[in-house]
Amino acid sequence: MSCPSGGYSPSGEKPDAVLADWSQRNWVEIEDFAPATDEDLALAHCMDYIQCIFDGMTANGHGNCDPDVAESTRWTVGSFMAAARIAVQDRAITCSPSSGFHHAGYDNNHGFCTFNGLIVAARSVLDGPNVNRVAILDCDWHAGDGTREIIDRLGLSDEVLHYSSGFQWPGSAQQYFSWLRESLGQIAEKGIDLILYQAGADAHKDDPLGGLLDNDELAERDRMVFELYRHHQIPIAWNLAGGYQRDEDGTIEKVVAIHRTTMDIARNGNHQ
Ligand SMILES: [Zn+2]
Repeated sequence: MSCPSGGYSPSGEKPDAVLADWSQRNWVEIEDFAPATDEDLALAHCMDYIQCIFDGMTANGHGNCDPDVAESTRWTVGSFMAAARIAVQDRAITCSPSSGFHHAGYDNNHGFCTFNGLIVAARSVLDGPNVNRVAILDCDWHAGDGTREIIDRLGLSDEVLHYSSGFQWPGSAQQYFSWLRESLGQIAEKGIDLILYQAGADAHKDDPLGGLLDNDELAERDRMVFELYRHHQIPIAWNLAGGYQRDEDGTIEKVVAIHRTTMDIARNGNHQ
């Protein structure tokens, strides 16, 4: 079987860039975590698919068979699993500066996503104490099709509730916020023990693959989401998800700035 080489990861620079930005502001405490094992990944995927990805027999979500790219996904998924676990344990807001989850299906992938860290993290905390129901709130601009497929295929819809703006095709900020308000209202009422929040920066109107919200509206989105922690005491583990703006000099400062606002609101309830 032939496998394509190359493949460009537009999100590959983000974890380093946002961590540098937050660390410089003394905003974060960094926790150690373990990479995801095959058994962890099997919470969302068929074992043949997992083996074929690591053996280089099946292309990963970046469209290549590079073993280093495949290995790196153990760390993004492991990071998000740790964020979910610590959020539950400390009843807190935690962040995993990772992305590349929601297009990964049970035995298939596309769109820079290889393994579905959302489902793996949800099921790993559901296997532990004090968690009976998890909400995946996916505010990446694109539809969480892989997430939905796995929930349907594994019959998880009672314990994993899924809200993805990308399935709504909102045509205006007003439609977007009415979807968000409705989803947050449901999450507040349904006895959710943990929210897994995809704070996608590609919902921005200038994103080449997005979006229709301006900076103030993105901040309002984040403020509304984190109110579920402040007003309803629901722990939240969030990640970066998509975000593809580049400045003319090639840097990703616009995306870093969006994530900075999200982190600021996660910490303070408001953007200063
Ligand atoms: Zn996206």
